[in-house]
Amino acid sequence: MKLINRRLYFDYNATAPLSESVINYLRNGVFVFGNPSSIYTEGREARKLISETFDFLRQLFQIPIEGHEIFFHSGATEAINSLVKGMAMYASSQGQKFHFFYSAVDHSSVVKQALHLPLLGHEAHSISVDSNGEIDLEVIIQKIKQQKGLKLFNFTQVNNETGVVWPLEWAIKVKQATDCFVHVDSVQAPGKIVSWASPSYELDSYTFSAHKFGALKGVGFTILSQNLPWIPMQMGGGQQKGLRAGTENTQGIYSIKLALEELHSTFAPQTIKTQKDALELALEKMLGAEGQITAKKASHRNLNTINITFNHDIKGELLIAALDLAGLAVSSGPACSMGVSVASRVLLEMGLSERMAKNSLRISLGPKITEEDIAQARDIFSVVLPKYLDRA
Ligand code: PLP
Repeated sequence: MKLINRRLYFDYNATAPLSESVINYLRNGVFVFGNPSSIYTEGREARKLISETFDFLRQLFQIPIEGHEIFFHSGATEAINSLVKGMAMYASSQGQKFHFFYSAVDHSSVVKQALHLPLLGHEAHSISVDSNGEIDLEVIIQKIKQQKGLKLFNFTQVNNETGVVWPLEWAIKVKQATDCFVHVDSVQAPGKIVSWASPSYELDSYTFSAHKFGALKGVGFTILSQNLPWIPMQMGGGQQKGLRAGTENTQGIYSIKLALEELHSTFAPQTIKTQKDALELALEKMLGAEGQITAKKASHRNLNTINITFNHDIKGELLIAALDLAGLAVSSGPACSMGVSVASRVLLEMGLSERMAKNSLRISLGPKITEEDIAQARDIFSVVLPKYLDRA
């Protein structure tokens, strides 16, 4: 069988290829270079691209005119660090204690804050998940109520490793029952859940990262309630109303508008789901008793992610290399752990065995996935996978 027709990229949770509109812009664009803070023509040209993006985001995400800000940054890692440390600093300035509630299945940019907050005299509280990667709202509410001071709950809307979705209604329940501020990590939402462009402004902030939806890397944006008490971490020239100082990345910011416009106008959730379900079914049949789909019984899963765990040692890097040679790019878990064979922290937290947590595969489809792509992927898996199963 001829395996390589063309390469298939199935690692959209790690990063997305550039959108066509961004590629066209980069190919044909007359790049503005002015500093957007400058008042002469070159500066105003740059400011115009940022303002257009700003207005587009306000419209797309129906952001209320009053009470909410948007600021651009270098990506979700920076934004989450700035918000968490910024709230801790604010609490210190008021003689208060800061309590940060997070889940061990959140992204490392969230989880690693827990290490630093005690050094600043504050506290981080980990929230556990069940075997489907879901949280118990009553337990969280009680945990939050037990603490006094300034509180923030990080709510990961879509898990990057498993595709488990936590509906925003869950976060709203916590918010309504407590005096906690809520930050939503929406990095994995665009193009991967039906309602990705419909946030609820009962919650306090949402963070997005441009490279996950086809815009340039090293840029992102956060939607923020003006009520959230924090001291922004990036201090300097006072750009972006002081929320994130530093000269704006004009091209990167404009790429957000281009990519989201394209995603929004071409988004076909039912097609993505149909293709994902077809591949998942085929993989389940190939795996038999030797592996399973992670969080298959979760009450809400996203449109694009299939995480498989194996019951025996498959040497994940070798399987990924074999799939790569056959023309298929998939990942063994969180993007940042590629190349290092460690058990997935997320899968361990969900109660999976060390062996299963070490032997996993993550397939994450793009918004323009086709039936032909899935047929080609199925062919590749059906040749490569049996060599890595116990029966081989
Ligand atoms: N949060 C989630 C859920 C993610 O998946 C990622 C990246 O993988 C991040 C945060 C960090 O995003 P960035 O690459 O923009 O720093």
